[in-house]
Amino acid sequence: LRTRNLTAFAAGLLALFCGLFWAAASPDENPFGPEKPKAQQALTASMAELGIKKGEAPFLVLTNAGYGQLGGRSTEAFLDLAADTTGRTMGTRSLLPVHTAMDEPLWFSLYRPDTHRLVFITSQGPDFKTQFIDAHPDKLLTPEGWKAAASGIIGNKRLFSVASISLTWAEKPAWPLLLAAAFHDHFCPGLNSGYFAAEYLKKKLPLHTGEKYVFVAAPSKCAADAVQVMFNATAGKEGTYGMNIAKKDWQKYFSQGTSPALIAIKVNGEADTCEGVVLGMNWKQAYEDTGVKAEEHAPKNGPQNPLFWTSRVKMSKRLASMPLEKQMGYLQEVQKFSGKASLAKQVAAGDPYQATVKK
Ligand SMILES: [Zn+2]
Repeated sequence: LRTRNLTAFAAGLLALFCGLFWAAASPDENPFGPEKPKAQQALTASMAELGIKKGEAPFLVLTNAGYGQLGGRSTEAFLDLAADTTGRTMGTRSLLPVHTAMDEPLWFSLYRPDTHRLVFITSQGPDFKTQFIDAHPDKLLTPEGWKAAASGIIGNKRLFSVASISLTWAEKPAWPLLLAAAFHDHFCPGLNSGYFAAEYLKKKLPLHTGEKYVFVAAPSKCAADAVQVMFNATAGKEGTYGMNIAKKDWQKYFSQGTSPALIAIKVNGEADTCEGVVLGMNWKQAYEDTGVKAEEHAPKNGPQNPLFWTSRVKMSKRLASMPLEKQMGYLQEVQKFSGKASLAKQVAAGDPYQATVKK
């Protein structure tokens, strides 16, 4: 009896050990979950439909793999699945992970630049649904074309992100600008202006040893995301501050047709100095050069109106394809200033708690 008990004890211990080992090992052994074959099948079928083969003529793959979720699990493994199935890679600028919220379902898009055909694949429960879109600018960037595409599973917001990045990618923008768009989750004129400002600063207010940029975005807009990516000047490291300010309050500093881009401050902590510039973006000129009208950017009914989205995609595409000199030419130095290092924090200071106190 005693021997039998001991054997049972040993077997139990072994089972427990194996169980523990299995639990520890399983995330690595099947990082995809049960949906892998369906995801692979959706990608392969879409490539066949678009007439593209792994390793052939360039096409772009976008995905929120690594950010989004599938069945409540994280999706980083699907970045490798997308690369393995399509042959696209980050190193060839043909696979970009697009930043989304962690609770957004996993999705992929494929875009073929020569035919402008685009496919959007998204997980819905355990399945994958597919939508084909004619992304030719003459079709998609019309009110009817946009409305039709946005009424599918992709929806307005995700169509904006996928179409703006895909169509602008075809213009071969600089890599830092592509990276910024992937972080910002879309291409827009404002993000472009942040990239222009970054390049402008590299030329006109370059950093030397021991110096770093501090940015103040007031109001806090798209340009702030470009500089956070390009200089690793993140909000969490006191690199970029976003502030709210009413149009009537900033307008007095800027000339007609120019809006705030960024306040850029070069700080030298050791020398206790800073040098700053208020940069404005000449949107009036940018509208003229790209043929997009200011009214299209703020149409009746706002985002309910397809013009709101199509004008932004059109303008991003055109701005991103311009030579760097022209891009930087849209920036205006509205104000220059200098002082002690602490001035940077002073520029960014405010009291947000004031409004939270019960009166
Ligand atoms: Zn934006």
